[in-house]
Amino acid sequence: MSESEHIYDITVIGGGPVGMFTAFYAGMRQLDTLVVESLPELGGQVSTLYPEKIIRDVAGFAGIKGGQLISALHKQMTVFPDFAPTVATNEEVTAIDKTDDIFVLTTTKGQYKSRSVVVAIGGGSFAPRKLAIDYDQALEDQKIFYFVKNVADFADKTVAIAGGGDSAIDWALTLEGIAKKVYLIHRRDQFRGLESSVERLHQGTVELMTPYLIDGVTDGPELSLDLKKVKSEDHVDLAVDALLVNYGFTADNHALRKWGLPLDHRLLKVDANMETSIPGVYGIGDCVNYPGKVKLIAAGFGEAPTAINDIAVKLYPERRQPLHSTQMDH
Ligand SMILES: Cc1cc2nc3c(=O)[nH]c(=O)nc-3n(C[C@H](O)[C@H](O)[C@H](O)COP(=O)(O)OP(=O)(O)OC[C@H]3O[C@@H](n4cnc5c(N)ncnc54)[C@H](O)[C@@H]3O)c2cc1C
Repeated sequence: MSESEHIYDITVIGGGPVGMFTAFYAGMRQLDTLVVESLPELGGQVSTLYPEKIIRDVAGFAGIKGGQLISALHKQMTVFPDFAPTVATNEEVTAIDKTDDIFVLTTTKGQYKSRSVVVAIGGGSFAPRKLAIDYDQALEDQKIFYFVKNVADFADKTVAIAGGGDSAIDWALTLEGIAKKVYLIHRRDQFRGLESSVERLHQGTVELMTPYLIDGVTDGPELSLDLKKVKSEDHVDLAVDALLVNYGFTADNHALRKWGLPLDHRLLKVDANMETSIPGVYGIGDCVNYPGKVKLIAAGFGEAPTAINDIAVKLYPERRQPLHSTQMDH
């Protein structure tokens, strides 16, 4: 059956930690599940904003790094191989329509059909904050990067990294051992990163270009960066092979309004089963509101079984099962 004819039991919109756990849980209930995530990687705010932070309030872990929690969720998603979810990344859901009891989800790449929908879009679609100067858009993913898909792309190259936070510092330290030369451009002399990382930065070979702003980018055999010294009229030119911009991310949850879903304080309004007033459309995680809601991973993890068990009973009333997970060999 072609993908456009396939009808999933559940489509989870958003592959943050809550969407990932939901997809695992739906698999455990033997539901045919799809996860659609707009970013190239799953993991939501945790992967994007704080992979190195130690999270201390997820049940069962005295402390776990954000990145490790997401790796563990990836592993958990495939623990029932016959019911591992289908995952579509780099694909944003743009519309939800319903025809004859089947939801049709339109994405930036195509359409999916589903018998139910779980909205888990957290703070909304993330997008990298881009360079605030005019430049040839064709340079994106060729010489100007906002994501690192593969560190090998930077091997033996002269790379400039723009930004002064944890992410910029982490990439500078990672690429230091791979690239021919790494520059780190920041508009302040101080960096906002883990003390230990900042110390490694100062001890290493990364050349710090501070306090500079990128004022222009010109393409040629090399990428020529016009750097303007902050609070001064001084300019320097820097020729590099690649520019990696790490100015953080913006989040936009306008989609909830665009999709015409019932809202409460700009968040999805859900009932005690995590269902919206549109039958078959559920909401969980940071994108929902109800009395007592807290925006925490642990709370979202709790909302997932509530939604999925309600969906399971409605889609397959004959399949009533005990709620406890079963013992497995691994
Ligand atoms: C700096 C920081 C530190 C934090 N520390 C903690 C902590 O210590 N403990 C804790 O419990 N919580 C912490 N939080 C909060 C926690 O990260 C959130 O509660 C959690 O990420 C919510 O998960 P989620 O899956 O609901 O949403 P998100 O993590 O926001 O994931 C939503 C996903 O949906 C995707 N998406 C959005 N729109 C679409 C669309 N239209 N189509 C497809 N995909 C879409 C997004 O790209 C994203 O990947 C912290 C948050 C921040 C910012």
